Amino acid sequence: MASPLKCLVEDDSRYLKSFQLFLERSSEHQCMQDFIHNTLPDILASIGGGKSHLNVIGVGSGAGEIDLQILSELRKKHPGVTVDNEVVEPSSQQLHNYKVLVSQKPELDFIKFAWNKMTSSEFEEHWKVKKMTKKADFIHMIQMLYYVKDPAATINFFQSLLDKNGKLIIILVSEVSGWGKLWRTYRHQLSYSEISQCVTTGDIKSSLDSKGVRYQNYELPSQMDITECFTDGDEKGELLLDFLTEVLDFSKTASSELKAGVLELLRHPDCSTESNGRVIFNNTLGVIVLDQLS
Ligand code: SAH
Repeated sequence: MASPLKCLVEDDSRYLKSFQLFLERSSEHQCMQDFIHNTLPDILASIGGGKSHLNVIGVGSGAGEIDLQILSELRKKHPGVTVDNEVVEPSSQQLHNYKVLVSQKPELDFIKFAWNKMTSSEFEEHWKVKKMTKKADFIHMIQMLYYVKDPAATINFFQSLLDKNGKLIIILVSEVSGWGKLWRTYRHQLSYSEISQCVTTGDIKSSLDSKGVRYQNYELPSQMDITECFTDGDEKGELLLDFLTEVLDFSKTASSELKAGVLELLRHPDCSTESNGRVIFNNTLGVIVLDQLS
């Protein structure tokens, strides 16, 4: 049966507003930054095999805040390299924000940016049509595999672009997060569709395991303050609920039973902890690191 609920990603502007609020209410980018500064440098050190030029691809880069930190760690590990950075991002607003950020950082002049305003599958198509043979030293897909039709096929394509010593990193929510519990319980009643799926690193690991593909895995503890979701009519709470459920105007369009069920689950100990009157949702992320296909 078709769901009457609309998917949040169909409304680019509300999606961006809710994503921005999610970033403000969570330690999402902070925990990624810790990973980028503490763990990623050793991974970056192992790529390239001494080459003076590296090819990087960022898929679903958003406004590029995280990408630029990765690129700066890359340069620290490989002083003097030049970098070709392919940015794959379908949102023109986010691509614009990314370009503005780059224009404010003259120290990035070792990087040549190629802006691909397209989805990952359009990029794949474009790559195949142009019979591109260029290989990549580092590819990252951070919090974007929810938005592709076939995450396993997407991973397989990008992994096939890796050069010797190349690395592909994937970041998604972990199966131990509140997201995992929310999705396992409500995926059929919310508006998940081809363009927005409930995929965790647990699902990706199972799929890689079944194919015998080896990977490394890290968990990044992270939290999100969802207290406002429990104040009826609170504008920010409603925006956060849209982000959590991926439903456009969830509070206004979901049935009262569904709304009550989701709210109850969100504050259940499987999803959140409560302290000092705040409800803190478990936003733990998972990182998967892949080598060149063998
Ligand atoms: N990587 C960034 C942004 C994550 S939000 C970060 O972690 O901060 C998800 C991003 O994926 C959005 O910018 C969205 O526009 C982009 N996106 C959505 N569908 C996509 C697709 N099919 N292919 C590539 N990117 C996509």
